[in-house]
Amino acid sequence: MIKEIITGSHTVCGIIGNPIKHTLSPMIHNLLAKAYAVPSIYVPFPVENGHLEDAIKGAYALGIKGLNVTMPYKQQLEDLVVEMHESAKQVGAINTLVAKEKGYIGYNTDCLGLQMALQEENIEWEGKNVGIIGSGGAAYATFAAIAKKAKSIHIFNRTPMHAQALVKQMQAYFSTPTNIYSLEEVPAIPLDIVFQTTGLGMGNNKEKMPICSTSLLNDAAVAVDLIYEPMQTVFLQYAKSKGVQTMNGLGMLFYQAVKAFEYMHDIHCETKVLAPIKQEIEDYVSYLWNKKVSRL
Ligand code: NAP
Repeated sequence: MIKEIITGSHTVCGIIGNPIKHTLSPMIHNLLAKAYAVPSIYVPFPVENGHLEDAIKGAYALGIKGLNVTMPYKQQLEDLVVEMHESAKQVGAINTLVAKEKGYIGYNTDCLGLQMALQEENIEWEGKNVGIIGSGGAAYATFAAIAKKAKSIHIFNRTPMHAQALVKQMQAYFSTPTNIYSLEEVPAIPLDIVFQTTGLGMGNNKEKMPICSTSLLNDAAVAVDLIYEPMQTVFLQYAKSKGVQTMNGLGMLFYQAVKAFEYMHDIHCETKVLAPIKQEIEDYVSYLWNKKVSRL
């Protein structure tokens, strides 16, 4: 019996980036499509530097219904979309394109994805003093996710200019009191939640964590690392050893994909259907990590 057949009515979605081989998005989206019986396939599209505009125009001409966007293109799409959704304006980056009548609309689902992951772990940020280590794309999404309800935000970064740019962008949308520190500084007040958003803890830096981590985690109740490979970074291991609640970045990755899937196919995904899919992704990532299969 033929089980999974691609017919002429299937739509195509995918992800563009460079490099793209490590992406988990095809696995997540294809599992979602199967679970919700959406006739659509999702594939990785490696796009060489200098070919972004051709790729977007070509994708639209080919009727590609939705695209996710990863490094290095998230901040390069503003002029290639017909409309930028508020979610993308806030964080200054697009990670999801959805085809409409005259072109793609650009969304950013990282912020919603992080909020959903925090809620799932019962991590409350309302009225909390929050630390964010890093000022790259992941820090923008983190700031936007928590700023509305947080009491204060404290940014720690190696390059002061990058932290200042982040705060300037966010001040256009949020009035949360915010301070900037170097990685060596200690905040004036104890922090309740600390988000680690740098790449320290993965790849060649897998044995490292930002130098401020130990002092920031002194009083914190929750430590979040946006890295998901490994699932337990040195930062999270240290936090755990201090009795701090921890969360890695896999939930954020999963739920940003779920939101993108919802935008692309105009459906709502229920939590009970999502749980086994999320578990499958977690099992896959930890299997690869334990087998020492490097995907990065
Ligand atoms: P990015 O834009 O390149 O920013 C990198 C940040 O890390 C910058 O603040 C940079 O500081 C800091 N940094 C890099 N190397 C450092 C070092 N040796 N010492 C101190 N600080 C250092 O990267 P990104 O897009 O924000 O991604 C950062 C991490 O978040 C990655 O590990 C990525 O996998 C993860 N992420 C996860 C998700 C998810 O869904 N879970 C989503 C997005 C990103 P400077 O400003 O000084 O350069």
